[in-house]
Amino acid sequence: MCVHVLNAQVAIQCQTCKGFFDCAECHDSAPVVNHGFCPGNGVVTFTCKQCQIVFQKDLATFDDLDKACPNCHTCFVMQAMTPEGQLHAHCMKLLDADLEEILQGF
Ligand SMILES: [Zn+2]
Ligand SMILES: [Zn+2]
Ligand SMILES: [Zn+2]
Repeated sequence: MCVHVLNAQVAIQCQTCKGFFDCAECHDSAPVVNHGFCPGNGVVTFTCKQCQIVFQKDLATFDDLDKACPNCHTCFVMQAMTPEGQLHAHCMKLLDADLEEILQGF
């Protein structure tokens, strides 16, 4: 599981080293990598994390139907949940809970 995008549903292939990575940051922080992440010129290769199949998407013709895995239909285009985002959501939940408790006290 990637530490940068917690809800990543696919891995993306780097066309330079042919390795699959959850995100560009994972790629760039890998110890063996000495080049910038290159997802491809127009056509991007993905691996679905649910069913493990490899598929390609042409970003030039990318539409709503392309937002899901062609095999298991896991939707992989979603707002990335970063650790900061999760922390923020967690804090908001805590605040909400406190507020409810306070309101119940009245
Ligand atoms: Zn690479
Ligand atoms: Zn990452
Ligand atoms: Zn799938």
